[in-house]
Amino acid sequence: MLLLLMSSWANHFPKEPPTYSKADLVGDINPSRHSDFEKLRSKYTSKSDAYLRKEVYNSFKEMWKAARKDGVNLLIISATRNRHYQSGIWNRKWDSLGGEEETRAERILQYSSMPGTSRHHWGTDFDLNALQNIYFESGEGQGIYQWLCTHAAEYGFYQPYIAYNGYRGEGYKEEKWHWSYYPLASKFQRAYNHLIKYGDLQGFSGQEYAQKLQVIDVYVNGVDSPPIP
Ligand SMILES: [Zn+2]
Repeated sequence: MLLLLMSSWANHFPKEPPTYSKADLVGDINPSRHSDFEKLRSKYTSKSDAYLRKEVYNSFKEMWKAARKDGVNLLIISATRNRHYQSGIWNRKWDSLGGEEETRAERILQYSSMPGTSRHHWGTDFDLNALQNIYFESGEGQGIYQWLCTHAAEYGFYQPYIAYNGYRGEGYKEEKWHWSYYPLASKFQRAYNHLIKYGDLQGFSGQEYAQKLQVIDVYVNGVDSPPIP
């Protein structure tokens, strides 16, 4: 009986318990003072102070090298962003858009995350080369995108915000520039779903729309499934 109780008790817990803190998940971090992060060398990024988790950076460097051999130049234009930084983006957009509040939140959410819900908080995701889909549809950008679609998975990277399809029907619009290191990001996503509640998403304009618009279900989880290794 005791054994039976113990096994049903164990079933209430995930097989792989979350190893990340709430602060790691909602971006209450300072990557420059966090031992799991590393600053990117200038040849990899247009930013003067871009950071990624070491594991992600190491794999990116391998991918960068392989791409370069094929004549493709990958450039990180945004990497880790903490919640404080994301709040700045969000609040600026909120103030510049007029009109009804729920519509305002939905418009920002087409491409920008609510503070506390961005994959950029995790140090696993980054934006490449240009923040416009159209850049990746002709010329050099098209070459970059085709290379990534063919090779990124060999290094653990994938595009979480693909165009809406049968599997992905809501959430952010397509972002051909946003790439994610899924061996780590999928762990963050699982941990996020265990630990973060709507009450944790506060401290910015229109915060009540986090729950009203179900941003965890629709946006945090509104990603394409990672490729099967
Ligand atoms: Zn991004």
